[in-house]
Amino acid sequence: MNFSTVAGQEKVKEILRKNILTSRLAHATLLYGKSGVGKLPLAIAAAQYIHCENRNEEDACGKCRACIKQEKLLHPDTHFVLPIFPKKHGSNENLTSDDFIENFRTFFKKNPYLSIQQWLSTLSQENKQLFITINDIRHLQKKAALKPFESHAKVIIIWHIEKITNEAANSFLKFLEEPPPQTFIFLTAEDTTLLLPTILSRCQKIYVPGLYTQEIINYLAQNHEITPAKAAEIAALAQGSLSTAIEIQEVTTQPFSPIFMDWMRICYKGLLVEIDNWAKKMSSESKENQKLFLQFSIQKLREAFTFSILSDNSSPSSFLYLSQEEKKFFENFSKFLNLEKINKMFTTLEQHLYYLSRNANAYMLFYTLSLKLNTILK
Ligand SMILES: [Zn+2]
Repeated sequence: MNFSTVAGQEKVKEILRKNILTSRLAHATLLYGKSGVGKLPLAIAAAQYIHCENRNEEDACGKCRACIKQEKLLHPDTHFVLPIFPKKHGSNENLTSDDFIENFRTFFKKNPYLSIQQWLSTLSQENKQLFITINDIRHLQKKAALKPFESHAKVIIIWHIEKITNEAANSFLKFLEEPPPQTFIFLTAEDTTLLLPTILSRCQKIYVPGLYTQEIINYLAQNHEITPAKAAEIAALAQGSLSTAIEIQEVTTQPFSPIFMDWMRICYKGLLVEIDNWAKKMSSESKENQKLFLQFSIQKLREAFTFSILSDNSSPSSFLYLSQEEKKFFENFSKFLNLEKINKMFTTLEQHLYYLSRNANAYMLFYTLSLKLNTILK
């Protein structure tokens, strides 16, 4: 993974590139920010930039021996420390990240934006906890004491450093105080308040912000089989996180927009036969899809309201992907709405989203919700 394949984050890439090119890269760099913004992909791209035998000012070449190995996460001078289960299932045998690396490579290849929850569920169905252990840190110290095999430097990537146990943190701190030569450490964390201040103070800290909606749309369109219109729907729900976006993409198949337009027409007319049919159809969808559809509807209402007051040039980015028919619909629909109606619809939809998460009967829920919306829209 090189910098160009990491979504957005141009400022962070610029800092990393500059530090590496001018030999001012700190021994330890902490990339922190919320889940799914690209902290791990950035660390991995930085490792490739360090190892590349033919890099330019912008990026690694992607073709040299080092790049090819690093692309497969097989470079002998890139070491990973991952949150893992400390012991082998049903035995006392200690495990290290190396025991999980094959799994990690497979899942990273499928989705470089995998979240720690997804990592946990790929490893086990049971609700076990993941840790960075003392055993793993000792193992790392041994590996780090060796000279680089092929590159001029070793790169250590520690994913989710906040998962480190207290015992391991003390040992790691010593490692940070006396770093081995030719070694660069990248740490990633979602929550820096869980880290020892002594660890924090020894790192260069780089904040990785949420992604822009357009960056998520571009990434989904390039890396997943998805139409730009659907990508825009998902990006609007993902709140700057590609992990969330990819999770949504895995459960939703058809675009929500035509369903939403149909539904609003049905609610407006208020014919019970149509409401009944629609509620039956919606209740046959997966629970995840139903929830996402309600979230989408809340989002669309908000946008429909702003649609009437914005000119075409300043429409929200997800509107850029609407068909002429959809644009026409929102133009007309927004004429029916005023602030009071919008507020009532928001409250009603949010209430029903909550009921849905509490396992309410889906058919009844969508049926009564449609009736309520009918009353508001009249
Ligand atoms: Zn290269």
